[in-house]
Amino acid sequence: MFIKIISREIPATILYEDEELIAFEDIAPHAPCHFLVVPKKQIKTINEINENEAYLIGLMIFRAKEIVSKKGYANSGYRLVMNCNEDAGQTVGHIHLHVLAGRKLSWPPG
Ligand code: AMP
Repeated sequence: MFIKIISREIPATILYEDEELIAFEDIAPHAPCHFLVVPKKQIKTINEINENEAYLIGLMIFRAKEIVSKKGYANSGYRLVMNCNEDAGQTVGHIHLHVLAGRKLSWPPG
């Protein structure tokens, strides 16, 4: 389904895009700042990432840091989350990095 955001078949508030990644606002935010960083290559879960694709995770984290810093949350703090499969609550079968900021986030997660 994120493929349809990449192809512009469904709308999203896009924050960043390059050849390998796209970042857009989460449609159901859990914090004042909640966006997703997604590789354009559709990898279903973290379990499916192979060694040749592992660099994408570094790019995702780097880009998350750039965007969240530009939004002004670098010092107050933010959380990066990747859910994998059912017990973690993954609902979209295309890996994505959640970036949450703008409020106190509880730990540990429920
Ligand atoms: P996860 O539960 O980790 O798989 O996260 C999927 C996330 O995608 C959720 O936070 C959803 O709110 C978000 N989401 C689903 N559909 C869309 C969409 N069309 N545009 C933006 N975010 C979406």
